[in-house]
This record gives sequence, structure tokens and C-alpha cells, in this order.
Amino acid sequence: MKIAEVFASIQGEGKLTGVPSVFIRTSGCNLRCGWCDTPYASWRPEGTDTAVNELIDRVKQLSLRHVVLTGGEPLIQQELSQLITGLKQIGCHITIETAGTIWQDVAADLASISPKLANSSPGVSAEGNWAALHDERRINIPVLQRFAGAPRIADRQWKFVVTNPSDMVEIESLMASLGNIRRDDVILMPEGIDDKTLHERAVWLADICRDKGYRFGSRLHIWLYGNRRGT
Ligand code: SF4
Repeated sequence: MKIAEVFASIQGEGKLTGVPSVFIRTSGCNLRCGWCDTPYASWRPEGTDTAVNELIDRVKQLSLRHVVLTGGEPLIQQELSQLITGLKQIGCHITIETAGTIWQDVAADLASISPKLANSSPGVSAEGNWAALHDERRINIPVLQRFAGAPRIADRQWKFVVTNPSDMVEIESLMASLGNIRRDDVILMPEGIDDKTLHERAVWLADICRDKGYRFGSRLHIWLYGNRRGT
């Protein structure tokens, strides 16, 4: 499968924030978010074709139990199940990070599902008019419902990237469409790739979380390392 990078770092987002983890970043995505912080795995996918066995060996070398399969969009990779099976055989805890627009019946200890809101629209860019295709694909309710009920997923979190308080209208409408989502599985995270923007947005977003019962999500890796590749 096409891999942009494999590295050890600290999980910066979600329920497992702070947990030392190996990140396997697959390359290629069916979306084009305007604020994507990994364009080398989406807009301009880089990487090398890497065998599943090579990836498992790399994880063994890094000697960490938690593995995060991220992207890009890992669910477009046909060998994903094979990789997960191999990683489980060596005792790994698996998190899959996905935008929730493509379904594969994969096993995971934690599915981190991050539906992309209207604020992710790329507008018109020099790399072609992706806006219409992105907007058509970014929310897929039947796929999100499958993630919500999949028996092979042990735990799940619904992670929303928020740029403005008005995003709450779309988030709450989506949650109502899905039904039966526990509020403490919903994480609202400020969008931003620098401390100043994150802090400004965190101030009002934390108040919204307190008032509505959602979790607040930080971006610890940005605070620790800045917006740098391989972290
Ligand atoms: S879904 Fe993720 S990887 Fe794909 S364009 Fe959006 S932010 Fe980037």
C-alpha cells in the first residue's frame, strides 16, 4: 500500500491524547479539505508502495503497542484488513482515523471518525475545481451509520474540526441524523496549525463543550512540535 510516512510520536488528538504511538500514514484521499494539514497525503500524495510485512517489521522496531492508521484516507487502501490482522497478531492496539465516507468492515480498538463539515470546503484552487466533488463526498450518512454500529469496532469517537461557533448547527444536525451517539464520544477540536489560532478558538469552543456536554479536544502535537511532518 502507498505509505507517506511511518513515525513514532505522541497521539495529539482524541481519547488517547498523550499516548506514545506509531503512526502509519497512508497516502491518497478521496476528499480535498481546504485546511488539510497533510497535503502530502491528499492534495499531492507522496509515498512509496510498501508491503504489509515491511510495515509490521517497522512497527516492531519502534517497540510501541499503540498504532494509529491514518492518512490521507486509510479506508481506500485494499490491504488495510491484512495490515490490521498482522498488527493484532503482534499485540498492537489499533486506532483507525477516517473521514467516514468509505466503508470497509475492518476491526479496530478505536475508530476515530471525523466527518468533514462545510468549513472544510476547498473553494477554487490552482489544482482544479475540487469544491463540488469534495462537497458531494464529504458526508455519507449510510457509511457513518455503519461505523456507528459496526460490531468489530470496540470503541469510537466522533471528531469535528471547528472553525466558528456557527459550525454547531451542522454538527447537531448530523448527530440528530445518526441518532444514539453518546455525547461523550463526540470531540470538538479547534481548527488551526499554530498556537495563536488554536488558543483563540479553544476559548469559545471549550464553553460550547461545557454547555452542551461534548468533549473538548486539543491538538497536543501542534503545541509540542508545531505543524511539522513526522510528528
Ligand atoms: S480527509 Fe483528511 S487527509 Fe483528506 S483532505 Fe481532508 S483533512 Fe486531508
